[in-house]
Amino acid sequence: MVYDVAIVGGGITGCAIARELTRYHLQVILLEKEAEVGFGVSKANSGIIHGGHHGKPNTLKGKLEWTGNQLWDTLHEELGFGFQRNGELTVALQEDQLPTLAELKWQGETKGVPGLELWEQEKLQKEEPHLSPDIIAGLYAPTTGVINPYEACFNLIENACLNGLELVTDCPVTGLSQDKDYWTIQTPKGEYASRFILNAAGLFADEIAKMAGVGDFTIRPRKGEEYLLDKRLQGYVKRVIFPCPTPVSKGILVIPTFDGTLMVGPTAEMIDDKHDLTTSSAGSSQVFNSVTQVVPGISARDCIAEFAGLRPVADGEDFIIGPTAKRGFFNVAGIQSPGLTAAPAIATLILDILHEEGLNLSPKDNFTPSIEKPIHFASLPTEAQMELAKRDSSYSHLICRCEFVTEGEILDAISRGARTLDGLKFRTRAGMGRCQGGFCSGRCMELLSQKLDIPVSEVTKRGGNSWIVRERDEVFSSDV
Ligand SMILES: Cc1cc2nc3c(=O)[nH]c(=O)nc-3n(C[C@H](O)[C@H](O)[C@H](O)COP(=O)(O)OP(=O)(O)OC[C@H]3O[C@@H](n4cnc5c(N)ncnc54)[C@H](O)[C@@H]3O)c2cc1C
Repeated sequence: MVYDVAIVGGGITGCAIARELTRYHLQVILLEKEAEVGFGVSKANSGIIHGGHHGKPNTLKGKLEWTGNQLWDTLHEELGFGFQRNGELTVALQEDQLPTLAELKWQGETKGVPGLELWEQEKLQKEEPHLSPDIIAGLYAPTTGVINPYEACFNLIENACLNGLELVTDCPVTGLSQDKDYWTIQTPKGEYASRFILNAAGLFADEIAKMAGVGDFTIRPRKGEEYLLDKRLQGYVKRVIFPCPTPVSKGILVIPTFDGTLMVGPTAEMIDDKHDLTTSSAGSSQVFNSVTQVVPGISARDCIAEFAGLRPVADGEDFIIGPTAKRGFFNVAGIQSPGLTAAPAIATLILDILHEEGLNLSPKDNFTPSIEKPIHFASLPTEAQMELAKRDSSYSHLICRCEFVTEGEILDAISRGARTLDGLKFRTRAGMGRCQGGFCSGRCMELLSQKLDIPVSEVTKRGGNSWIVRERDEVFSSDV
């Protein structure tokens, strides 16, 4: 069979494009090298839907930031992932930073971003009492929001599959060759043929382009370390707090995540290794030294978890979206920040381009825009929790004590495609709380093992060879 479109990579970019393509009468396949979608850059970021005013209006990423921002409300209504517009403050500590605030305001207004306001010290202290009294002014943007990025990937792909997408995970693309009318895609799971190929492979998009014979750009990782703080700081700040930006980074932020924890970060460091996800004491010092200047009550002692993500930065720093010298092969590459924000706009842009290049977009009458929303037991009122637990006893068994996650939610997540411990964690929050899975990991592994009908020793943290336990026999034979 020859597919109409094959997407390489199931990050937020690939998932958003896949879902958009399934609106039409097309055969679409998405090939993802990891065990689940959203396990690349899209799982390890700041989770901000940027307000629309940060990106320069003359760059593609600057334009798509604002267009993308406006598309998230409808997606949220239809697909039910965590998303909330809680607004943002970019703050100035010195007089010489005031022109930057004015420029950001002008930049946003040029793009049509509504509601931008300059706030003076008194208003800032009233609205956000934990901000440093040294802050002299701030730019308020009501359009900024926070999102659960992995949940967005999972729900987009679940909806795309409902509408006919073929999803193949654990399936790295290893080679590409062009025949007269279609491309042949090599993978360890066999060959696939497709008329159009979309290269949405994040950090590895330069390698996929090289396989297609159009490797005329490189992707370098820019590492960002992030630090999650204890829930005791929930509500400490209401809005995302940005310092004044620098030419390479939006700066180190204080982020009230959708789930109620505070997160601080990210750093911005160009590195060479696309697999280096380590955090460092230098990174931690940089983050906490920086954020305590704007929110002095934050302390490194409140850190419960840390991680690093790698922004896929292309030469020239902008997104690379469009056709290439090879007919039928398209790049959706260099999707660094604000790629999460821009993803829905990237999807509409690439569909327009595909249409111009000869892809027939004939809408389906039976496209279903929504999915059955996953239950989040912890956020239900007590009466609804009791009613649910009475109806289905799996909702009366608590699996994760820190985040109040029930067995019913774990089983539902597995039925929706969770295959790994991280897949469960990102879908349900089991293991994301203060004890970081110390209590619930074993039970989650048992449930994965039972439902997927695999031995516990085959359950992995994030796919591949990230096994967690070994069979007793294996341990003895390797120790002898
Ligand atoms: C620290 C940090 C903070 C950030 N904060 C924000 C923010 O707050 N807001 C915002 O808008 N943006 C933010 N970003 C940027 C955002 O995370 C990225 O722009 C976005 O996630 C990129 O998505 P993607 O789908 O293009 O890439 P990815 O999510 O990496 O997806 C690419 C996929 O391709 C797969 N793949 C790779 N090679 C192959 C192959 N050979 N075969 C098959 N599959 C393959 C990968 O496994 C991966 O799943 C941040 C980034 C970082 C690192």
